[in-house]
Amino acid sequence: MIPDWACERRRMVEEQLRRRGIKDERVLAAMLEIPRQEFVPVELRVLSYQDDPIDIGCGQTISQPYMTALMAQSLELRGTETILDVGTGSGYGAAVLGALGARVISIELVPNLAEWASRNLERTGRAGNVQVITGDGSVGYPQAAPYDAITVGAAAPEVPAALVDQLRVSSRLVIPVGTRQDQSLMIITRKRVGKKTRVGTQCRFVPLRGAEGWR
Ligand code: SAH
Repeated sequence: MIPDWACERRRMVEEQLRRRGIKDERVLAAMLEIPRQEFVPVELRVLSYQDDPIDIGCGQTISQPYMTALMAQSLELRGTETILDVGTGSGYGAAVLGALGARVISIELVPNLAEWASRNLERTGRAGNVQVITGDGSVGYPQAAPYDAITVGAAAPEVPAALVDQLRVSSRLVIPVGTRQDQSLMIITRKRVGKKTRVGTQCRFVPLRGAEGWR
């Protein structure tokens, strides 16, 4: 029997997102619209709307839906933004951001994942304003900077200075920072001079690799 994806999606939005405090109606609408099952390996699709991360191969995961929503909500997007998404993974997070901003540059270190994510975005009609790049996003992507928002879907030992530098003044970076096991979701606002950091919820992400990540 083919699952009723739309029904599962509605339940996810109500029970995992709205009930837990996700209030941004644009984020809720985007997650109600984007077919998450298209970003999950075929053999694991039945798990698409569960309250957990899911393995996507290469030792990586697609984040728990609540985390994707919380990160997107933290960016307070209006629809006009150019967004940098570090750690494309499946491309699901990038698709959600594409529905919320004007343009998304999503950068992925693992070439196979970048290719798979590009196919997922194409197939779901989300590739129009989402560009996937293969490379080390721990140093950002200066070619398209400055950004109106930056999100990182992997945990860093410290906030990479290059990412803050590539933010426009008053714009935000959301990134898990901590040890390999435990992190806090940090929301950093770039100021004219320096930055302001707000420490959010505890979380657990896969490690950020590359020049500014874990060795
Ligand atoms: N947002 C993704 C999930 C991210 S999982 C989704 O919605 O599916 C984290 C991803 O970050 C993994 O795919 C991993 O390969 C990638 N990654 C880790 N270090 C990176 C780096 N330095 N640059 C770019 N991508 C990186």
